[in-house]
Amino acid sequence: MPELLDTLRTTFGYDHFRPLQREIIEAHLASRDVFALLPTGGGKSMCFQLPALVRADRGLTVVVSPLIALMKDQVDQLQAAGVAATYLNSSLSSAEARSRMAGLHRGEFRLLYVAPERLMLDNWQQNLTGWNVAAIAIDEAHCVSEWGHDFRPEYRQLSELRDILPEVPFMALTATATERVREDIVSHLQLKEPAVFVASFNRPNLTYKVLPKNGPARQIMDFVKSRPDDSGIVYCASRAAAERCAEALAARGFAAKPYHAGLPAHERAENQEAFLRDDVRIICATIAFGMGINKPNVRWVIHYDLPKNIEGYYQETGRAGRDGLPGDCLLLFSAGDAAKQTHFIDEITDEHERSVARSQLRQIMHYAESAGCRRSELLGYFGESFTIDGCSGCDNCLEPRETYDGTIVAQKFLSCVYRVRRASQFGCGANHVIEVLTGADTDKIRRWGHDRVTTYGIGTELSRPQWAAVFRELLRLGFLMQTEGQYPTVELTQEGVDILRARTPITLTKPMITPKAARVRR
Ligand code: ADP
Ligand code: ZN
Repeated sequence: MPELLDTLRTTFGYDHFRPLQREIIEAHLASRDVFALLPTGGGKSMCFQLPALVRADRGLTVVVSPLIALMKDQVDQLQAAGVAATYLNSSLSSAEARSRMAGLHRGEFRLLYVAPERLMLDNWQQNLTGWNVAAIAIDEAHCVSEWGHDFRPEYRQLSELRDILPEVPFMALTATATERVREDIVSHLQLKEPAVFVASFNRPNLTYKVLPKNGPARQIMDFVKSRPDDSGIVYCASRAAAERCAEALAARGFAAKPYHAGLPAHERAENQEAFLRDDVRIICATIAFGMGINKPNVRWVIHYDLPKNIEGYYQETGRAGRDGLPGDCLLLFSAGDAAKQTHFIDEITDEHERSVARSQLRQIMHYAESAGCRRSELLGYFGESFTIDGCSGCDNCLEPRETYDGTIVAQKFLSCVYRVRRASQFGCGANHVIEVLTGADTDKIRRWGHDRVTTYGIGTELSRPQWAAVFRELLRLGFLMQTEGQYPTVELTQEGVDILRARTPITLTKPMITPKAARVRR
């Protein structure tokens, strides 16, 4: 379809399609349901904007988006390019909304952006059937899944559109979807034999690095000082931390501002603007910052605190290097932060939500502590295999972590799990195993007679946090497994049993234990 390229050139001013755009558009115009997974900046909007213009039936394309703040921008840009587009959301006066509705009734528009909650109001169903709707595009489709990082219950109702408009093809687009989220999207939105398009998530220009968090204020200061002309974002876990971070940087003469949902709207907008204009070089923010912000020259992203999940981490780091030039992503990791998060997660009342949060935390900890290629860890999470040996863009590839002969500690740990397991009626958690190893004198140990197992007190050469790190590595290496749930228990895997019997040498990676983390006790 050469006319697609013509429209891309004449209306949008681009010379060629980005990867998969053409394929997505063609499948959609052939009335197929489409599922498209493109990384941020991959040009998802074009996938529904262009077909809306060229479709022979001149029908209306309804774009469902949760990002009210972005609707105006997109519609302004479309209108500037001469496209009949409009949007409806809660930011409009009722007079304005009425006049746009009238325009829709007259069939004046080719594209309508709308928030999901609005779309599902009762009288809308009538409207939709009267508007010659030709396509429904669901942007940020991962919002339909609780397994994503941004679940929106309103998205669940979108499947009702299928009954109202059974003939109309759906297009679901997202930048973040694991296999699980993908399945959720397809099933909740009732996509019918969708054409599936998945672009690579690799960001070759980004470098990934993890450092043990050790005097983070100084670590950030050093980082920033070594990049005097570069803009970047420091992501913090709380509003207070974001403010403190911005203050500390500003006090040392760096142009830094905070950004979080607790700031007055005008201040937030001002700080964001200043960052976009390069008047402010550093934004210290909660994850409220960044959705839909298109600043091409963000050169680095630091995570001051452990992100809640890998998807979020990928999104947030993805804001660096949008212009294709190098970007640095640094995560400051401490086991203490992870313990804090575990604590919060234990307070979650909904069981399903709690277990999702737990497994997400485990995955991000795994990423942080892994000695393997970070890029391949990240891409693996999105179901993509990255097989090139040494990505030359992550700390572990550039400077492999120090390893040591861990045969003895591994044997001690594994055999302690084995002994303790045999001496108990129920499973035991890793902490209990570590207490036995280090010869702790606890109620539980005495009650269960675990002070009489042969591995009691044989591990006093390591501190408990050091043992915890050994445990996590054995888990990662697949010698141990851990159950889900609030009180996870550990077991040997078959590999663990084999290696214990065969006394095979085991190489372990030096853990990233910081003096600070070592002091934190659960
Ligand atoms: P996404 O929603 O996937 O993050 P956008 O739809 O916002 O990405 O597109 C990112 C940028 O890329 C926008 O500025 C858009 O105009 C631009 N863009 C889209 N398609 C093309 C193309 N084929 N060639 C060049 N730029 C494009
Ligand atoms: Zn690597």
